[in-house]
Amino acid sequence: MSKIYAIANQKGGVGKTTTCVNLAASLVATKKRVLLVDLDPQGNATMGSGVDKSAVEESVYDVLTDRAAIADCLVVSEEGKYHVLPANGDLTAAEVEMLSLANKERRLDTVLKQVASQYDYILIDCPPSLNMLTLNALAACHGVIIPMQCEYYALEGLSALIGTINQIHEVLNPELKIEGILRTMYDPRNSLTNEVSAQLHEHFGDRVYRTCIPRNVRLAEAPSYGQPVLVYDRQSKGAMAYLALAGELLRRNEQGDAADSIQPETA
Ligand code: ADP
Ligand code: MG
Repeated sequence: MSKIYAIANQKGGVGKTTTCVNLAASLVATKKRVLLVDLDPQGNATMGSGVDKSAVEESVYDVLTDRAAIADCLVVSEEGKYHVLPANGDLTAAEVEMLSLANKERRLDTVLKQVASQYDYILIDCPPSLNMLTLNALAACHGVIIPMQCEYYALEGLSALIGTINQIHEVLNPELKIEGILRTMYDPRNSLTNEVSAQLHEHFGDRVYRTCIPRNVRLAEAPSYGQPVLVYDRQSKGAMAYLALAGELLRRNEQGDAADSIQPETA
């Protein structure tokens, strides 16, 4: 069965898009079938996957507002070897338009169900706010991956996101959970980093990924070539880190599946 993860944090610049693109490419490297859904009107994940957002005729906007079928909007990232449901500036209008449509929080959920069986993983790149688009992502996914920088106000910002996740869990999506907290742009030489890391472990325990993504200039350069870092510079620390993250995510899932399949003992 496919697993759907939203990459979310209402703070901008924490590494959501970088994580979405590079985790998608890393999962493909382990032979998984992957769909990346770009849910940010900035279209950074689309461009970072080597898909020209201005040349896209039908995008996630058309899918969410019933103008097109999802199957007609999917494109292949030649660089990353995964599928992309692209986004561009049109998506800004969807936010408003969706308010007057039926099932406004479940629009993405409904369309992803139509293609989910074709993929092992679906990753949704969320915009930097807790708006209707992000709510759609949270209603459609099994878990949320939260990238964050270990800086002073990071934990404070998390509480609004956790509150929203808890609400969606109660009202819309009983399956929803925090899949993992990912430390990005990580610098272990900074003492604040270690302090925030310790607090994260205290709050979230084993939900904090062991893998940390280091600050790595190759990760910042790769998007301007429309390439995941695995294609741009396979040997870079950034590429290694995202491969490690994919490995950790797969292992967690296997362990989770094994735990689920243990039969309760009969008396
Ligand atoms: P978000 O999607 O949360 O707004 P991005 O993934 O776009 O964040 O990252 C913000 C900026 O930081 C981008 O310019 C990106 O290239 C850069 N960046 C992200 N992660 C790293 C990293 N680990 N090392 C260096 N630069 C990074
Ligand atoms: Mg982004």
